[in-house]
Amino acid sequence: MPDRRLPAPAGGSLPAVRRREQADPEALVTRARAGDPRALARLVSLVENASGELRQVMKVIAPLAGGARVIGLTGSPGVGKSTVTGALVRSYRAEGLRVGVLAVDPTSPFSGGALLGDRVRMQEHATDDGVFIRSMASRGHLGGLAWATPQALRVLDAAGFDVILIETVGVGQAEVQIAATADTTLVVAAPGMGDSVQAAKAGVLEIADIFVVNKSDRPGAQDAVRDLRTMLAMARYGPADWKPPIVSTVASAGDGIADLADAIGRHESWLAESGERDRRRRARAREEVSAIAVTQLRERLGGLPGGARLEELADRVAVGDIDPYSAADELIGG
Ligand code: GDP
Repeated sequence: MPDRRLPAPAGGSLPAVRRREQADPEALVTRARAGDPRALARLVSLVENASGELRQVMKVIAPLAGGARVIGLTGSPGVGKSTVTGALVRSYRAEGLRVGVLAVDPTSPFSGGALLGDRVRMQEHATDDGVFIRSMASRGHLGGLAWATPQALRVLDAAGFDVILIETVGVGQAEVQIAATADTTLVVAAPGMGDSVQAAKAGVLEIADIFVVNKSDRPGAQDAVRDLRTMLAMARYGPADWKPPIVSTVASAGDGIADLADAIGRHESWLAESGERDRRRRARAREEVSAIAVTQLRERLGGLPGGARLEELADRVAVGDIDPYSAADELIGG
């Protein structure tokens, strides 16, 4: 006997199933906002995997985001970023704030376990409902971490975290770009690691709102502070500009963390008063939209490596059959 329900119009069993699937993202968001860590982890995974459900999730959370203070940390491996992050988490928890941590490693996009060590170091927060810690990898999808990070941030923001810390590994261009999506960017250095030279190269100086000289219990800490001061003295600041302070810490002992939290607080006040906060958030939204648009465009054009249309056109350009402008026109239908 034929199943007569299959071709049934709206209201039949199939559309009902579809409705339930579509309601899932909303249910996930509701649970995440109620503090369910598994729902939140699932939402971040949707971002990481560039899931098709994301579109609906983003619709639901659009009006809910914007309340979180976002703090980025960047610096060479080993300077103590994770330790500083852990100490800041402790400090914000003591104020009763909910804290999210995104640990991002752009240097190893295919390994989700790259930052496992950092998670282990933050185990003391593992049973705390007010703390969510997640290492992020791009899983090699087209848009990469520049695509995924702002969206993961948006998810945590909408889930109601008061503070979100984004920690990146290294001081390359990608790390700098990710840390710079924050409201306040901390550049962490440690004595004797040649960070200042590396930092200057990668353009870290331009994005630093606060310099942290960690491991101040080690020899050479004063030299590191002096080098940074010299570098800052050469920069020109207008009277209304923010001048990045240098904060010395021994994160492993919690020393200087109160000073650091104060400096972050002062920067947040300056952001609000100067209008810079809105400007930075618009810039972040701009990056987010263009990363999504460019990725969609590349997908649509078959621009993926091995994409059929692009490959065919590339062959023709390579043998001089057509010129590259005409090929590009054909690709985008111009
Ligand atoms: P990251 O790679 O930048 O995240 O650095 P970690 O936070 O993993 O720290 C690297 C190592 O430095 C760890 O063994 C920490 O315990 C240690 N460490 C962190 N902060 C300090 C500090 O202020 N003083 C000293 N002596 N060691 C520290």
